[in-house]
Amino acid sequence: MMPFFRTMLQAGREMGRQLLPPACLYCGAYRVSPSHFRLCPGCRRGIEKLPPGRCICCALPFAAGSSRHLCQSCLADPPPFDRVYASGLYLGLLREMIQRFKYDGAVGLDLPLGRMLSHALRPEAHRFDLLMPVPLCRKRLRLRGYNQALLLARMVGRELDMRVVVRGIQRVRETVALEGLGVKDRRRSLSKAFRVVTSVEGRRILLVDDVMTSGATAREIGWTLKQAGALEVCLAVVARTPRHDFGASGVALPKPSAVSPVVP
Ligand SMILES: [Zn+2]
Ligand SMILES: [Zn+2]
Repeated sequence: MMPFFRTMLQAGREMGRQLLPPACLYCGAYRVSPSHFRLCPGCRRGIEKLPPGRCICCALPFAAGSSRHLCQSCLADPPPFDRVYASGLYLGLLREMIQRFKYDGAVGLDLPLGRMLSHALRPEAHRFDLLMPVPLCRKRLRLRGYNQALLLARMVGRELDMRVVVRGIQRVRETVALEGLGVKDRRRSLSKAFRVVTSVEGRRILLVDDVMTSGATAREIGWTLKQAGALEVCLAVVARTPRHDFGASGVALPKPSAVSPVVP
């Protein structure tokens, strides 16, 4: 295309962007008052927050009440991470969004999901030295083309001005897909699966992932980081499953009614 026409086209697009309010990045609805998360009010209402009653370590929701204490699992087998930060529950719309982000190539959802996670982390972000994404195994990275945890870590790093170490943790061996496995089988599959390849001595690390289910991956990485000298390890996830064994497998979901999310 001739440079002149290209410039005119870009100017036209820019003008359109100025005139129209930005669309909701999930359902595509226009003429909504966009929030910082770039989601319309309907989509924001569909996101379930963590209940007040939950484990003070792994954020596991309790069936009733509003008290905060350690859950049975954290008491019986203390994890290497001190705390799990989460934006919401892995249910309903948030679950659909994460599945689109992860399995459907909707990489533009890194903006709302990353901003939601930043919002949950903001009061305590200053405590951490490094953000590290949970690595994806090579086979899945080849199939998917991107690591969703890295996209989230980059967005959080930008929002909160935190340093992201992209390849600080490596998978030293391929593991079977964890979806559908019980807690014990997940642990067995992940044993000695990671290696730390950056200096973490005396550092406070915030691990970033999209979902926490059993926490088996975070536990294994957490132990590896602690063995490498990390002072503290915490986990930041967009969504926490309501139970340790709540399936994270991709269930066929109806497509969102409007356009696919786009990279802004
Ligand atoms: Zn929407
Ligand atoms: Zn717990």
